[in-house]
Amino acid sequence: MKTLQRTLSIIKPDAVEKGAAGDIIHTLLENKFRTIGMKMLHINKAQAEGFYAVHVSRPFFESLTNFMSSGPIIVIALEKEDAIADYRKLMGATDPAKAEEGTIRKKWAANIEKNAVHGSDAEDTARFELSYFFAGYELAK
Ligand code: ADP
Ligand code: MG
Repeated sequence: MKTLQRTLSIIKPDAVEKGAAGDIIHTLLENKFRTIGMKMLHINKAQAEGFYAVHVSRPFFESLTNFMSSGPIIVIALEKEDAIADYRKLMGATDPAKAEEGTIRKKWAANIEKNAVHGSDAEDTARFELSYFFAGYELAK
């Protein structure tokens, strides 16, 4: 059975810099995701570290958090049936060299780090990530 879910998308600094935001948002809407919250932010290093705390012991943590705080990002709260898995599929593999044709990362990602977009990977991480960037009153009903 399909269930209505929320997930967090981030248009990362590389994609904002390239002017890809409009195309990515259009792709989300075309694929029947409802945008229930959206804002542009420029987070600092500590805020990026808090968001990616789950990756603290990974070798790429330092570089990733520098990258994510290097320029403006757009955070988007999405709602749809099966939003989490459907958005992961639309986003494509972490490494764009492995991303399928038609995915956002295939089109816009430069490499495994500067890979254009983020997407929550499970219900608990989606809840944490949405609440990291949005207060309840900021999300549309
Ligand atoms: P995803 O974003 O597909 O869920 P992960 O959660 O594994 O991927 O990693 C979080 C982010 O860290 C990736 O989107 C990417 O920006 C970066 N990253 C992941 N693996 C690597 C790596 N091997 N080298 C550099 N950066 C990486
Ligand atoms: Mg992840």
